[in-house]
Amino acid sequence: MRIKEGVYWYKEKGLLDANTYVIKDKITVLIDPGLGNYLGRRLEEMQEDGIDPKEVDLITITHLHPDHCDATASLKEISGAKVALHPSQVEYLDIMTEETSRFLGIGIAKKFTADFVFELSIGNTGLKILHTPGHSPESICLYASDKKILICGDLVFEKGIGRTDLPLGNNEELKNSINTVSALDTEVLLPGHGAIIEGRRNIERNYEFVREFYFKHLHSYL
Ligand SMILES: [Zn+2]
Ligand SMILES: [Zn+2]
Repeated sequence: MRIKEGVYWYKEKGLLDANTYVIKDKITVLIDPGLGNYLGRRLEEMQEDGIDPKEVDLITITHLHPDHCDATASLKEISGAKVALHPSQVEYLDIMTEETSRFLGIGIAKKFTADFVFELSIGNTGLKILHTPGHSPESICLYASDKKILICGDLVFEKGIGRTDLPLGNNEELKNSINTVSALDTEVLLPGHGAIIEGRRNIERNYEFVREFYFKHLHSYL
């Protein structure tokens, strides 16, 4: 589904799947391929929007939980795209996939590695990278300043925040990361689950809500 010029959203298909986003600019970047079981349906939806899988140049992931990155290796095979990872994702690739699969009882179907490593931005894409740990240590957000869109993975959702009870989650880091991204000029917030949020005022209100609801009473949730 097209959200705005060059920005597409493919809704999560079920439990243990995640939202996929495609940004078509100078090159085409797909963020979070989701769970492998749903990849076929996801690619059909992309084709309905006129996006051929072979057009995808880069696959990036917001973090290493299987709901976001399980389909990475399969999508790479189908599309011929390169996998671009953040240094923290390279560092945690083995640990996260093992620990999370032990915790959730499911692992990543096919392993993958990085073809590219990026830190502050991804080459020609106009995408800036923010390392935003908390939900997991290798979580990143992708921010397109020209389009004013923020892809935030499992950091923050509509009326919710990422869970921190999974392996290596950290409440204090999550709070700091939300404070960091809330300072960005954002017109469209694109989270890893649930609905997208449009409009600067609505996004600000959502940050206010999660601060009030989750952080003021944080200790009662620990
Ligand atoms: Zn996650
Ligand atoms: Zn998730």
